[in-house]
Amino acid sequence: MKRVLILGATGSIGRQTLDVVAKHPDQFSVAGLSAHHDENGLLAVASRFPVMPLCLSGQLPGSESIRYSGDRSLERFVEDSDADIVVNAVAGAAGLEPTFAAINSGKDVALANKETIVMAGRLVLEAARVAGIRLVPVDSEHAAIFSMVERFGREAVRSVIITASGGAFRDVPYDQLESMRPADALAHPTWNMGAKITVDSASMANKGLEVIEAARLFNLEPHDIDVVVHPESRVHSFIRTRDGSLYAQISKPDMRLPIMNALSWPAVLDETIADLPLAELAMSFYPPDPRRYPLLGIAYEALAAGEGATSAYNAANEIAVAAFMEGRIRFTEIARVVGKTLEQDFPRSLNDLRSVHEVDQLARHRSTGIIEEIR
Ligand code: NDP
Ligand code: MG
Repeated sequence: MKRVLILGATGSIGRQTLDVVAKHPDQFSVAGLSAHHDENGLLAVASRFPVMPLCLSGQLPGSESIRYSGDRSLERFVEDSDADIVVNAVAGAAGLEPTFAAINSGKDVALANKETIVMAGRLVLEAARVAGIRLVPVDSEHAAIFSMVERFGREAVRSVIITASGGAFRDVPYDQLESMRPADALAHPTWNMGAKITVDSASMANKGLEVIEAARLFNLEPHDIDVVVHPESRVHSFIRTRDGSLYAQISKPDMRLPIMNALSWPAVLDETIADLPLAELAMSFYPPDPRRYPLLGIAYEALAAGEGATSAYNAANEIAVAAFMEGRIRFTEIARVVGKTLEQDFPRSLNDLRSVHEVDQLARHRSTGIIEEIR
C-alpha cells in the first residue's frame, strides 16, 4: 500500500489522481491534499476520504480542519508528511520548491509539474539521485518515453518523437490566429486540462516545454527530439532505438493512465480505462507548421542557448499567457513576448536554486516590460 500526498488536488491532474487512488484502494491511500485558493473545492475532495492533513497555500483558510497555510506551507506540508510518494500537480513555477521538499525528505515523486524540470531539471535529477528516490514523469508524452527508456535501457535509445495534438487552433486558418480570444483557446480537441496548459497547447508552448522537459529528463540532444502533430492523440510518443526501430505507447488519451503508472512504477496494475479497440486506431501524423507554432522553434533555440534560456522561456511564457488571458495582448503576441525576452543573454548553466530564481525573476521582469511596450 502506497500513501500518496497530492499537491494541487483541486486541479485537473489532482482530481484525476484522486480517481485513480479511489479506484485502487488495495494499492493506494491518500496521505494529504493541497490547494491554493479553492478552499471549498479542497474540503469537497477531502470529504471522499478518511481525515487527513490538508494545506491551503494561497490564503488563510476559514476551516479549522486545514492545518497548513501561509508562507512556505506547501514545503512544510510535504516535509512533515509520512507519505511514500508525492504527486506534484501544482500549476506553474510554484511547483519547483515542493518538488525539492519531497526529494529532500526522501519521498518518491510523481511529477506532473513540468515546470520543475524545465526550470531546474539537472538540479532536480541530481538531488533525486543523491536522495535515492524515484522520480517518474506524469506528463503523458514523458510517461510514455520513460516507460520505454526504462525497459530498453537508455543506451539502446537513439532518439524520441513527441506527439502533439495541435491544440485548439490546429485547423483555424493562419490569418485568423491573431483574432483568437481566450475562450477560443480553451476548447481543446482531445484533452481536458487546466486553463494555462490548454492555452499552451494551442500555441505549442506546451510542446516547447515538453521538448525541454524531454532533453533534461532523458539527457537528449535537441536534434534527437522530434515533434509530430498527431490529431487523434493515440500515440503518446515514440522512441527510436539504435537499430532504427520505432516503438510507441498507444492508449486512449486519458491522464489517469500515466498518473496510475507513475504511482505504481515499476509495477503494472490491472486497469482498462485507456484500452483502445484496434478498430479505433486510424491515425495520422504530420510535421508542425513552424509559422503557425513559432513557440516550438523558440524552445529549440532556448535549448541551444542553455539552462538560463530554457528557464526564462517558461517564465516569459507564463507572463505572456496571463496577459493574453486578461485580454492585454493578442494570442499571436505570446510568441513575440517570449522571443523578445530571450533575445537577451541568460546564463548557460544554473547551478543552484538561487540562480534559477534569479533568472525566473529577470525573465518575468523583461517580459512584463515587453508587454507594456506592445500595448
Ligand atoms: P489546474 O490549473 O487544473 O490545477 C492546478 C492546481 O494547482 C490546483 O489545485 C491549484 O489550486 C493549485 N495551484 C495553483 N497555483 C498554485 C500555487 N501558486 N501554489 C500552489 N498550488 C497552486 O492545472 P492542471 O492540473 O492542468 O496542471 C497541473 C500541472 O500538471 C501543470 O504543471 C501542467 O503543466 C501539468 N500537466 C497537466 C496535464 C493535464 O492534463 N491537465 C497534462 C500534463 C501535465 P486552486 O484550485 O486552489 O487554485
Ligand atoms: Mg503532455
